[in-house]
Amino acid sequence: MAFEIPPEFDHPTFRLAVDQFDQAAHHMGLSPNLLERLKTPQRALCVSIPVRMDDGNVQVFRGYRVHHDLARGPTKGGIRFHPDVSLGEVSALAMGMTWKTALAGLPFGGAKGGVAVNPELLSLGELERLTRRYTAEIFPLLGPDKDIPAPDSGTTQQVMAWIMDTYSQQVGFSVRGVVTGKPISIGGSFGREEATGRGVVDITLETLRHFHLPVSDTTIVIQGFGNVGSHTARILHQEGAKILAICDKGGGLYNQKGLDIPGILSQLTAEKVPVSSLTKFGEPIFHGDVLTLPCQVLIPAALSEQITENNASRLQCRFLIEAANGPTTLEADVILRERGIFTVPDILANAGGVIVSYFEWVQDAQRFSWRESDIHHRLRDIITSAFYRILNQAEEKKLTLRTAALIAGIGEVAQAHQSRGLYP
Ligand code: NAD
Repeated sequence: MAFEIPPEFDHPTFRLAVDQFDQAAHHMGLSPNLLERLKTPQRALCVSIPVRMDDGNVQVFRGYRVHHDLARGPTKGGIRFHPDVSLGEVSALAMGMTWKTALAGLPFGGAKGGVAVNPELLSLGELERLTRRYTAEIFPLLGPDKDIPAPDSGTTQQVMAWIMDTYSQQVGFSVRGVVTGKPISIGGSFGREEATGRGVVDITLETLRHFHLPVSDTTIVIQGFGNVGSHTARILHQEGAKILAICDKGGGLYNQKGLDIPGILSQLTAEKVPVSSLTKFGEPIFHGDVLTLPCQVLIPAALSEQITENNASRLQCRFLIEAANGPTTLEADVILRERGIFTVPDILANAGGVIVSYFEWVQDAQRFSWRESDIHHRLRDIITSAFYRILNQAEEKKLTLRTAALIAGIGEVAQAHQSRGLYP
């Protein structure tokens, strides 16, 4: 019988995740029993979060924590604070984390969480109370050997610190390993904050190396200038690449000679303004136009479903490195393939964050801190070896990198299920 998405999970991002899973599973000959089990989360918790606002009123927010698959270890995945967060979206992202952790060889299953809220509209006190009450509501799922959250869109080191503190207050002692992406003072890891961007850069550099292209003067366009986009831009600029355009949700900046990324970053640290207002560095452009600018490498690092059937035929890049989760729709993927645009999928391109989160978790368990240079080397080692493993598989079996990456991740999970059997 054909699989029907249960209504509670129905969401464009969930449909995309299931469609991509089906395409990969088609090449693998997976048992139908396992297929069915892997399409929906193993468990999902929906919570309501009452928060006392600064004006004395109580506002109730919806929150979620989803464990997609636990076969390979404790679950790992970020927490997102964004107005559009829903059970379907969080479940799709949790599924992606299962394949991403398996692909990188990390001993984790996939999870994701989130609260439907615009954190920019909350005061610091409201944000802290929301975070602490959300943590208390999902407490039964959390623990360093059970489920370890991390930052995602709209959440920060400070949010992770509040989660760590709330969990520790509940159990009565300090549990550093319950979250990753937290401040160094409470067990955070050197290099974690920039890890996703650094991994995106490692993948970009290996892609250029594979095609015998020098990084100096390679033209790059980046959509999104938050955690992932800004670190990606900073490190690529350091490597000698020419960043032609960047943007955030307020608009973008373009400079044909290449943007002065360190100058832009120091200006943004001094004052919280949209990048498009920094006109001394380049011309302002509409954020919707950024994706179709001519460049060698396009890096979407903002939201899901940005490259669609409406703009895929107008992309003017040679390489697409998916720093965001799910930035390309299924229809757009077909167009990109036909046009020969070399696409490195999200589960490989943005795995740097969860890889260094794994290092943080290991350091917390060891009560031992690694040097920043060790973190960078080990990250590069894991992510580049995954890249070449997937590239070889894709070339050998004539698959896209996305399908090859999914096959590798799903294959690891399937083997774990097979070894463990079905309980009871
Ligand atoms: P963030 O909230 O720090 O930044 C998001 C950026 O996107 C901001 O600059 C925002 O202004 C911009 N943006 C929002 N809407 C936009 C639009 N319509 N057009 C252009 N720009 C827009 O988030 P982040 O942590 O950098 O995450 C970005 C993406 O990377 C997400 O898809 C996230 O799931 C994924 N990701 C993040 C991590 C991590 O470690 N933070 C790890 C893996 C994947």
